[in-house]
Amino acid sequence: MQSASRHVAVIGAGSAGLVAARELRREGHKVVVFERGDQVGGTWVYTVEVESDPIGLDPNRTTVHSSMYQSLRTNIPREVMGFRDYPFVVKEQNEERDPRRFPGHREVLSYLIDFANEFRISEIVRFETEVVLVGLVEGGKWKVKSKTKRGEDVEEIYDAVVVCNGHHTEPRIAQFSGINTWKGKQTHSHNYRTPEPFRDQVVILIGSAFSAIDISRDIARVAKEVHIASRSVADETNEKHPGYDNLWFHSMIKSVHEDGSVVFQDGSVVLADTILHCTGYKFHFPFLETNGNVTVDDNCVEPLYKHVFPPVLGPSLSFVGIPWKIPPFFIFELQSKWIAGVLSNRFALPSQDEMMEDVKAMYSLLEASGTPKRYTHNIADHHFGYDDWLAAQCGCPATEEWRKQMYFAAIESMVTKPETYRDEWKYDHLVLQAHEDFKKYAF
Ligand code: FAD
Repeated sequence: MQSASRHVAVIGAGSAGLVAARELRREGHKVVVFERGDQVGGTWVYTVEVESDPIGLDPNRTTVHSSMYQSLRTNIPREVMGFRDYPFVVKEQNEERDPRRFPGHREVLSYLIDFANEFRISEIVRFETEVVLVGLVEGGKWKVKSKTKRGEDVEEIYDAVVVCNGHHTEPRIAQFSGINTWKGKQTHSHNYRTPEPFRDQVVILIGSAFSAIDISRDIARVAKEVHIASRSVADETNEKHPGYDNLWFHSMIKSVHEDGSVVFQDGSVVLADTILHCTGYKFHFPFLETNGNVTVDDNCVEPLYKHVFPPVLGPSLSFVGIPWKIPPFFIFELQSKWIAGVLSNRFALPSQDEMMEDVKAMYSLLEASGTPKRYTHNIADHHFGYDDWLAAQCGCPATEEWRKQMYFAAIESMVTKPETYRDEWKYDHLVLQAHEDFKKYAF
């Protein structure tokens, strides 16, 4: 088939939107990036602002996009985290930069700004412009309606839309008996910035993911007590964390009561001031109208062929950044290369029926293994296989061995030494291999 250049709208200028824009432009497409914020970087743009509804239930609240907290350092080494052909290395030593292997959030933002500058992405970004509607029109094209901060409405037609709006903004809240009438404070990690508001409080923190681990330690420095409630420990768990005199692990919460008490599955009772939900986020595409061809059910975006293309609407509609528990930038880069090449007809997609069969086969596997639907896009246990599949579609080399080993080493040390793993990196031979590899990329 003849190569084609398309007019493509990219929604979002976070890491996914930036690399999608670069790949689409490299492939010869005409690209416009819509970004409702005033700069690139997405969730890495830290702000002290929080939302008026701390658990995000009010649909009319003004949204704050970023979920970064002040103390955040990356949970994977910078070598693994960066895009493949624009390594996340320390290019120049100056006070502005953070050379650590697991740097703070400002360094990641600086890296994304460098990336945008290097590939001149900002010149195609419409800042402070929110996409409010994406809908299919005749001829398989897409109507994109956007609104600028100054209130101007614009309606345009695009050949294709790549959705890169992020999925760490719409809080998921834990549900258990009594929570809707509990009189204590509740907040979600989306609105967590610093530990200070929790000083001298008894805090119940729900969750066991990376940010829950970090935030519980952050808060334990100032709070009276921190009790971590987690689904992933045995029901009878009620233990003090070694090295702390005010941090406890529990099984999940059973019920909460009007007098402020919180009852855990293990039978223990704590009188609490605040419940902090570190319970993750929901996919949310308020602008997308697909006549039911793409829906979100129990946090599964469906149906999506390889987490990217809706079989009926692809390739003109695609998503970058849906999988989670992954090293994201590297996967975003490969997904973007695939989308760009499919749109130009350089790579072919299977038929709609074949793609739908593939999606159904994935659902059957998940069902057979007892995996809840909401974990459909959690590809933690096979993401390097997914990367290699994408790389093969694009004719790119498979994942480097050092990247895999470094990633697994980081995850293992995160679990075994959550307080210290960032500063006790001992796999220097992998770092050497990574830097040897980076010599291929002349930036
Ligand atoms: P985002 O960065 O969220 O960008 C989406 C962009 O879309 C935003 O700029 C937003 O303003 C824009 N947008 C949304 N809706 C619209 C609209 N309607 N119109 C126009 N623009 C819109 N990853 C790691 O690799 N290492 C880490 O250590 C790590 N730590 C993390 C810690 C936290 C607390 C969180 C929340 C995430 C962390 N991540 C980490 C994952 C992180 O989300 C990814 O690294 C990545 O930045 C996600 O990029 P994205 O482009 O998909 O989304």
